Amino acid sequence: MQMSDEEIQDVYVRIQTDLLVVGDSIITDRHHSSNGNYDDDDPQNQIGGVIPAFSLSGWLRHGMEKVVQEYGTTACHPGEANANFRKDGVYNRDLESGYHPKGNCLEDDSGNGCVILDLFGGFGNRPGKVMRRPIQFSPVRSSVDYTRGEAEGHYRRLNRNIVSRNEEDNREPLRNTGLDAVANLDGAWHLSFREAQPEFIALLAEAIDYLDAHNTDFMHQLGGARNFGGGIVDCELVNPLYDETELRRVFSRGRSSTDAMDEKDDEWADEYRPEFESALESRIEG
Ligand SMILES: [Zn+2]
Repeated sequence: MQMSDEEIQDVYVRIQTDLLVVGDSIITDRHHSSNGNYDDDDPQNQIGGVIPAFSLSGWLRHGMEKVVQEYGTTACHPGEANANFRKDGVYNRDLESGYHPKGNCLEDDSGNGCVILDLFGGFGNRPGKVMRRPIQFSPVRSSVDYTRGEAEGHYRRLNRNIVSRNEEDNREPLRNTGLDAVANLDGAWHLSFREAQPEFIALLAEAIDYLDAHNTDFMHQLGGARNFGGGIVDCELVNPLYDETELRRVFSRGRSSTDAMDEKDDEWADEYRPEFESALESRIEG
């Protein structure tokens, strides 16, 4: 069997989190559903929205950088070498702790650069080979299509009081700020590879395992509000061998996997993944 020839271009990562805050960049459809009666902290709100890919992408990239570094090599620095870093020492410190300057790897033989640059692109307008999509979420479970990279989740408006730090003010509230958040998220993040390469899938699988195992580390939480326990994400690569019906079944509560799914799990773990991982190893070790 020529497993490497199997074209795996579309994969799904299951993402579950109690609370996710991605700054003010959650896009909601509240104006469509509110019908003029919208009250933004009513827990009965039936409001969905979109989690932009930007935070998800940064979170995944950081996990992938860790995996590459654990192979004993360096990862592409995410920032431009000539960027104006706010703290002079930061960039050089990064270069001493597991990074090479972005794009330096392009001087290698292949011209594709290291695997991180190849996937994320961005140097001299190179497109990345993994397409990270936003996640559309909805509180109405029956309308969630996991095969389209959607999730069940509730929009929440969190309110925080900013209080005065002057002692004589006795912590008087100065103003109230709101944060857009998604609560009880469970869904599928859809990633597409522009080129099917076994090392890409292996790196994704290892990074997702890493992020799941380190999900309470501050550095590996997702989005903002991490000091308040937001962004602790349970994540898992859905077996890329599953068909669409099996993918949906992963998310249906109370339904266990089928025998066919169990067989695919064995096939994935015993045959595909080890072969993909050795492709990753040879790519990383050159
Ligand atoms: Zn690189």
